[in-house]
Amino acid sequence: MKQKKILYAGKAKSVYRTDEKGRLIVEFRDDITAFDGGKKDVLKNKGSYNAGVSAFFFAYLAKNGVRTHFIEMLDAHRMVVRELAMIPLEVIVRNIAAGSIVRNYPFKEGTKLDPPVIVIDYKDDSRHDPMLNDELIVALKIATPQELRKIKAAALKVNALLVKLLAKQGITLVDFKIEFGRENKTIYLGDEISMDSMRLWDRKTGESLDKDVYRFNKGDVMDTYDRVAKRITKTAKKP
Ligand code: 5GP
Repeated sequence: MKQKKILYAGKAKSVYRTDEKGRLIVEFRDDITAFDGGKKDVLKNKGSYNAGVSAFFFAYLAKNGVRTHFIEMLDAHRMVVRELAMIPLEVIVRNIAAGSIVRNYPFKEGTKLDPPVIVIDYKDDSRHDPMLNDELIVALKIATPQELRKIKAAALKVNALLVKLLAKQGITLVDFKIEFGRENKTIYLGDEISMDSMRLWDRKTGESLDKDVYRFNKGDVMDTYDRVAKRITKTAKKP
């Protein structure tokens, strides 16, 4: 497969056309950003950790009946994916209160949310990703009510599968953000699922094993990504 012209460059990934119809290449770059791009750095090999963990999760989810855009890895930084028309929603599933819902609502950090709470934000950095509700999503014609039901059901399924997988490694899935896209009328899970888009806590020590280490200067983020990626992908029993 040949990589062709660039279609899109986001804050940490670039997307390229290929010589095959309906197939794109996603390159996970070494850029890391936080606070709407207000904090940014380049950290050697960071992209390969996120690519590897994303590929591992996508393969596990696909095996368990979730439609994802992932096809195969080309090298440590690049994956081949199905081309989707992305839906501009950030679908967040929360199992434990942390981050913005603790800042914005009277939740105490660490409170278990059972059943999990789904929050959907509008993906638009210039508006700081404002929170949506079902009526706004339909009024903005971002998704139909039926699509929204499918998206929420898929998000909860992804959550249940990842909670189970990570628990085996002694990791608590606090929350995560995923994105979906359409190919014709079918909805697929797209984008990435990595330490950049999840909150992971060590079950025993409570240590952050994700981008919060970078956001809040909690330690050496690359050392954390290295340890957590190995814990998730190498030591995981076959899912
Ligand atoms: P919060 O709303 O607490 O900032 O984020 C909730 C979860 O979704 C966290 O795991 C966070 O990493 C993820 N998340 C929220 N917004 C974004 C975003 O714009 N980009 C990425 N990569 N992850 C996000």
